[in-house]
Amino acid sequence: MSQRKSALDRYALVGHPVAHSRSPLIHQLFARQTGEPVSYELIDAAPEQFETAVLGFKAAGGKGMNVTVPHKEAAFAIATQVGVAAAVAKAVNTLTFIDRDIRGDNTDGVGFMRDLTENQSQRVASATVLILGAGGAARGILGPLLEAHPKTLVLANRTLERAETLSREFAAHSAIEVCKFDELKSLGAFDIVINATSAGLHGEQPPFAASFLSRTTFCYDLAYSLKETPFVAWAQAHGAGRAVQGWGMLVEQAAESFAIWRGIRPDTSAIRQQLVR
Ligand code: NAP
Repeated sequence: MSQRKSALDRYALVGHPVAHSRSPLIHQLFARQTGEPVSYELIDAAPEQFETAVLGFKAAGGKGMNVTVPHKEAAFAIATQVGVAAAVAKAVNTLTFIDRDIRGDNTDGVGFMRDLTENQSQRVASATVLILGAGGAARGILGPLLEAHPKTLVLANRTLERAETLSREFAAHSAIEVCKFDELKSLGAFDIVINATSAGLHGEQPPFAASFLSRTTFCYDLAYSLKETPFVAWAQAHGAGRAVQGWGMLVEQAAESFAIWRGIRPDTSAIRQQLVR
């Protein structure tokens, strides 16, 4: 029996877990808005299945993939060419298949900064900034945050060595300091606190001391959920000025990926509102 070739260009999100993802809906809305003929699916792959999942999707005619937890560093390794942001972050969230090549880009940083500074109206210049977590997402946002000239940037992680490795890669920026979560108690309150741990994905909330929050602290949880995320709930209960989930970043980084793949950037404002509703 002959197989009918799909008229749609195939894209996918690969991660573990991915069932919670709203990326298929976002890309469907982008496709509808721009008239681009694309489809978008979810591929759940454990770390040992990552390479097979990517190469298999490419071999099946896929045009590109988004990459999420915990594969962003593996995606950097699999890419045969990388964009500047991915090279700086050593983490990739967007793969584009171009003939034999696999191009890797990182749109997390630009998507995050767009949401933080434009949609949420936060000013990073001269602010004190705390990032909780030192995984792929922290890697993606660190470079653009430092380029916005915070007064200080503290990188706190459960595994100190991982934060130290990351900070060494950005050693040219003197503003960066690293510590473990329990050392945060002595540092006082921050202007902007970013949760880049994946603890909330499993419904967990690390036992942070609330001393890094004040009534003027803006908390940004990179995680997002249809319910309140554990970090947002914790920040609100412990007196943060404002705490938001990462829906805006999700839409903005997706729009950047879509622009890389299709050469057209969707208008994100209506889509952000639609998703949050
Ligand atoms: P990752 O590379 O797997 O890194 C996970 C990080 O979380 C590490 O720093 C890890 O610490 C820490 N962590 C995990 N479980 C923890 C726990 N129980 N207690 C304390 N720390 C814990 O993941 P990622 O790619 O960076 O993603 C992090 C989060 O950002 C996820 O929730 C993801 O969904 C979100 N994200 C959102 C967007 C968006 O568009 N909104 C984009 C990217 C990522 P160790 O180093 O000690 O293991």
